[in-house]
Amino acid sequence: MICYLCLKPIKEDTTWSNFLNPQHRTICDHCDDKLEQITQPFCQKCMKPTADQKCSDCIRWEQHFGQDPLERNVSIYTYNEYMKDLIARFKYRGDYELINAWKKNVRETFKEHFKNQDLSIVPIPLGDDRYSIRQFNQAEAIAILLTEPIHHILTRQDGQKQSKKSRRERVFSNNPFQITQPSPKSILLIDDIYTTGTTIRQAASLLKERGAEHVQSLTLIRS
Ligand SMILES: [Zn+2]
Ligand SMILES: [Zn+2]
Repeated sequence: MICYLCLKPIKEDTTWSNFLNPQHRTICDHCDDKLEQITQPFCQKCMKPTADQKCSDCIRWEQHFGQDPLERNVSIYTYNEYMKDLIARFKYRGDYELINAWKKNVRETFKEHFKNQDLSIVPIPLGDDRYSIRQFNQAEAIAILLTEPIHHILTRQDGQKQSKKSRRERVFSNNPFQITQPSPKSILLIDDIYTTGTTIRQAASLLKERGAEHVQSLTLIRS
């Protein structure tokens, strides 16, 4: 095997357990070390690193908007400098193959947190303009790794920024998403990066208006 990140050969594990149950690795140890997985302590709601139960972003959200449409976000990696380079290669230079570097951890995280919950997988869509530039949707690329049915019920039309409105108005009146059919009851939204959580919550609030009862998210990175 060749490492998907540095393109050097990977030394396969020659133990008996690997022989009996081969784990085909997609990245080498050296590259794996540079990917930084999120570890405790973190916000129990969105996984932002903090010693408190809930981070300032989540508290601020509740203060400004009351009821939070998002139940919980689970992220896998921190947005360190190495990951920033990878995301630039993946999203902006179209290196789709990089998805393989994250495959194992995406699957394991899904299993650990969401297996047996009967969730409908909904990737955050890209607007048409960006899709035609990138030729793929990074959220969908991550969703495909889960090998579960994908529900394409959201579309996106990014509007003009309306800076005169209050933050609350901006978030809800400028919702870039549209929904094409009633929502299933339990949703798992998929996206690449969770930054402020606004995008995920805009999608979540629309899904809830159209029938969702529980909305959670799985994102590759918590920045
Ligand atoms: Zn490597
Ligand atoms: Zn939080």
